[in-house]
This record gives sequence, structure tokens and C-alpha cells, in this order.
Amino acid sequence: MTPYDSSNVFAKIIRKEIPCQLVYEDAETLAFRDIQPVAPVHVLVIPKGAYRSFSDFITQATPEQVARFFSRVHIIAAELGLEEDGYRLVSNHGAQAGQTVFHFHVHLIGGREIRGLAG
Ligand code: AMP
Repeated sequence: MTPYDSSNVFAKIIRKEIPCQLVYEDAETLAFRDIQPVAPVHVLVIPKGAYRSFSDFITQATPEQVARFFSRVHIIAAELGLEEDGYRLVSNHGAQAGQTVFHFHVHLIGGREIRGLAG
């Protein structure tokens, strides 16, 4: 397994070395606006732990951490007002799938009609 590289941009955001448009923060989770939004609402939700991708998170975090993370994603979506009209969750695992930042994250996308599944 490729090791986690703590020089990635999200690790820098967690360490407050670079700024973000904060949406939510607690001891183990951070949510902030994507710098290149693809929709009126485009928020990235990340665990603060050092997980390279979805696969790393699922296999290395505890079931409780995984459950808390996705429960928090759900709460953030609701707080952003997306519950009724709908939203999309995306997580790219690996370069072929389009992952460019190698710290596990979920894209929370909404605020407009979304059609089509893959690029
Ligand atoms: P992915 O391609 O799935 O790895 O998603 C990475 C996302 O991170 C892209 O949508 C980028 O626009 C976003 N991104 C990169 N740098 C920053 C940053 N400094 N602040 C917020 N979002 C960023």
C-alpha cells in the first residue's frame, strides 16, 4: 500500500498551514468549500486522520470512526439545506478514478440538477 504523504494540501489545511472556507470542524472531522466548485454547493468532508483514500479509511479506521464520519457527512448535508432537493456524494479512490489529493475526502455536491454519472 502506498504510504500517506503528509505534504498533501488537505493535511496542510488540517494543520492550519493554509486557509480554507470552513464549513464544519470537530476533533476528528473537517469540512470546507472546494476551491473549484462544480455546483453552488461543493463541500469537501475529510477525517483528520492520515488516510490516503477511501480504501485506506475503510480498512484502517475503526467501524465506529467510519460510522461517525458518514453520519457527520449526513448532518452537514442537512445543515447546508440539501436534504430535500438532493445531493451527490463522490469519493475518488486512486488516480484512475480522478483522485488528485491523496487524503481521503468525500465531495458533497448540490444546489443544482446533476445528471450523468461518470466523466
Ligand atoms: P479529487 O480530485 O477527488 O482528489 O478532489 C480534490 C479536490 O480538492 C478538487 O475538487 C479540488 O478543487 C480541491 N482542492 C484542491 N486544493 C484545494 C484547496 N486548497 N482548498 C479547497 N479545495 C481544494
